[in-house]
Amino acid sequence: MPDSPLIAELAGFADELTTIRRDIHQHPETAFEEVRTSDIVAEKLSGWGIAVHRGLAKTGVVGTIKGKRPGQRAIALRADMDALHLQEKNAFAHRSVHDGKMHACGHDGHTTMLLGAARHLAARPDFAGTVHVIFQPAEEGLGGARVMIEEGLFDRFPVDAVYGMHNMPGLPVGRFAIRPGPMMAASDSWTLTFTGTGGHGSAPERGTDPTFPAAQMVLAVQGIVGRNVPPRETAVLSVGHISGGSWGSPNVIPSEVVVRGTSRSYTPSVRDILERRLGEVGAALAQAQGCTADYHYERRYPPLVNAVEQTATVMRAAALTVGAENVDGDTPPRTGAEDFAFMLERKPGAYILIGNGGGETGAGDCPYVHTPHYDFNDAILPLGAAYWVNLVQLELGAA
Ligand SMILES: [Zn+2]
Ligand SMILES: [Zn+2]
Repeated sequence: MPDSPLIAELAGFADELTTIRRDIHQHPETAFEEVRTSDIVAEKLSGWGIAVHRGLAKTGVVGTIKGKRPGQRAIALRADMDALHLQEKNAFAHRSVHDGKMHACGHDGHTTMLLGAARHLAARPDFAGTVHVIFQPAEEGLGGARVMIEEGLFDRFPVDAVYGMHNMPGLPVGRFAIRPGPMMAASDSWTLTFTGTGGHGSAPERGTDPTFPAAQMVLAVQGIVGRNVPPRETAVLSVGHISGGSWGSPNVIPSEVVVRGTSRSYTPSVRDILERRLGEVGAALAQAQGCTADYHYERRYPPLVNAVEQTATVMRAAALTVGAENVDGDTPPRTGAEDFAFMLERKPGAYILIGNGGGETGAGDCPYVHTPHYDFNDAILPLGAAYWVNLVQLELGAA
């Protein structure tokens, strides 16, 4: 654990933070049902004299901390509160009391680190401007960040920049990692429904056969990656579902075949290419066989793109916290998706990874997020809180 006066001060609250974190861990709540968790967050913030707004995206909480010096700038720090549908297999005392639900992504820790920072900032508002601490629901799959934005998050709480943080198992305690530009993938779903007349399997010439363009489509999607995506960029298209016809009637050409898949990309332009070409290629293949293609592309999570300027700022904040030698500014992009990307679509900002080390479940092991033995590492609570405080000082320290 690095030592600095700030970390030492925050470490003074370590027991309280650990208690909060384990309490939240023990009572996991999934998307948009974070009622108890948001109650805890709101009570803590209010108790520390912080103005609290509730109700965005049902369970969202926003705390507003004004600096004691005047300033026009405002920034937002964001944590997620939701748990996963997963059966916890840990045996420790603070394991989940709710069957089938578990804080397996460390959002209990994210919430607690931001609470720790909020407490410190409220007690020592030695900055100029405003800090909004955002506690959002439903990061896992349902886009709570998007819902908060749609319900007016940044209209009610205008900010110049927004920042997020996620723990990373396998990255040692005391280390941070980030990269400017795309860092997490966009994750979308697509569906092509090929329709023809179908008919008797013995007489294909009497009708039109949607199995033919559907089969061609499975191969053609790789041509989109190979021929339409610029070679210096990357993308993944995978078919995950094909259905049509009836098992009991292999001699019947079906009238409808559905092909569904996932699409991953790292830039808005590549995402646009994938969306456009899947539809064009599907329609052309269908037309060539006298069929039609109904196309639906569902944009789920956008790519997470760190702004260059804010990435430099958070790297300085991390360096102030753990030393520049412990901050990796060129971590590889990840293939997972993260709904903080919705906030970064609206505001410049950056999303950093904090080392979770090997967890506390045994020597040498390193349970990854979304696995049943994962646990957030309480040792990094003061570290994460100190990082947030350092970031506020860098962003709003100057009068
Ligand atoms: Zn997760
Ligand atoms: Zn997560």
